[in-house]
Amino acid sequence: MRLPQQQQQEEKQRQPQRRWQSAATCGDNGGERCAHSLLILGKPGGGKGTISGKILQDFPVFRHVSTGDELRQHVREETSLGIEAKKYMNDGLLVPDELIIQMVMDDAVDAMKKCQSLLLDGFPRTMEQAVALDKNIDVDMVINLNIPNETIIERISDRWIHPGSGRIYNLSYKPPKVDGKDDETGEALVQREDDKPESVQKRLENYEEATAPLVDYYATKGVLQTFSGTMSDVIYPEVKVWLDEQLMDDIEATY
Ligand code: ADP
Repeated sequence: MRLPQQQQQEEKQRQPQRRWQSAATCGDNGGERCAHSLLILGKPGGGKGTISGKILQDFPVFRHVSTGDELRQHVREETSLGIEAKKYMNDGLLVPDELIIQMVMDDAVDAMKKCQSLLLDGFPRTMEQAVALDKNIDVDMVINLNIPNETIIERISDRWIHPGSGRIYNLSYKPPKVDGKDDETGEALVQREDDKPESVQKRLENYEEATAPLVDYYATKGVLQTFSGTMSDVIYPEVKVWLDEQLMDDIEATY
């Protein structure tokens, strides 16, 4: 009979193979993984941005790529991508794959070539995006945030932003100091066009149709961990414990 310790040791020896080999996109380092790619999957308004912010504070090794933030910046700067994307975003629709894949992939591949770990927030959201990502990057960790729809609808209706900077407020748990005004500039806060109730409903339906199948896709690959709940402050400590465990291999692998 194997002792639990022995069993644990054997499991540990098996695990790093998935994590440290076959990283062809990871620069010229003899095929060994030199960086991680972590994805956050979840419904719109489900706290992907909040959880990402907390991860970046505790694990600054990650380079953050948020497709929502990047797209909103394109919209603000009125680039050709921004003008095109705005038509879809305002209606709560997904931006077409060919536009989004191009936007993310350059950034992601560049990070991997420099051996920078990636935190992809809001990408992929369709099977086509996931397949495109797989061709270039070996995803090794996926956080799936499982939040009830009622929580999301409530949370989004309380969300207001400062359009100039993208700063986000929530009337329930992160209100501005002065009602309706940005804390830093005093300028008026607005509701995102796609945070209005009719768009939110559409975004939740899109999620079920286009993004939910990715949960099974990554579960089958053995890289997915689901976290359920209604509050990011409660969910995050569990995420941190899991990430600490995942990244522990890095320390051991350097010996
Ligand atoms: P949320 O997760 O609340 O939808 P985001 O800020 O991540 O908010 O995204 C805002 C909008 O940007 C989406 O509703 C969609 O129109 C567009 N978008 C972001 N990421 C993607 C993506 N990977 N594919 C297609 N559209 C995207």
